[in-house]
Amino acid sequence: MRMDLNRNQSNAIIAAAERFYSMMESAPVPGIRLDLRGRAAGQWQVRNGIERLRFNPEAFLLDWHAHFPATIAHEVAHSLVYRQYGSARVRPHGQEWKNTMAALGFPPAITHCTPLTARRSRVYIYQCECRSHRLGPRRHYLVTRQGYRYTCTDCGRRLLFGDRVEWK
Ligand SMILES: [Zn+2]
Ligand SMILES: [Zn+2]
Repeated sequence: MRMDLNRNQSNAIIAAAERFYSMMESAPVPGIRLDLRGRAAGQWQVRNGIERLRFNPEAFLLDWHAHFPATIAHEVAHSLVYRQYGSARVRPHGQEWKNTMAALGFPPAITHCTPLTARRSRVYIYQCECRSHRLGPRRHYLVTRQGYRYTCTDCGRRLLFGDRVEWK
């Protein structure tokens, strides 16, 4: 099940990246894609001298505050190091990168190495009046994006999402 950021969230991510580049007077901003899947929250790529920043929408949906804006700063810092030093002889999370993170105002956390358990499926915990219910990603998507309503077969009340996610 793909889960995608809404337009406001996407725009906020792009705006944050632009702000970090402008802080370091390092225009232009490379292409930004919100299409990364799997275990990394973010990725900086360079191919044939063309840079790209990619972010994992699942990571931001799962824990917005852990990744906004720290994960964006993390990947922008890779880009800034590349622009200043090139990719040879610089370790990915070495001193140059750490200094750049500090200049952007962030601790040098390697947050994008935090394993995302994207391959397992999530269980969304809903509540009615009498108990909790475990909904899979498909039904959660229908509730949050399509306006579906589920009711408890025991108490007949509507199931409400309590912002709790578990893994199965
Ligand atoms: Zn990194
Ligand atoms: Zn109930």
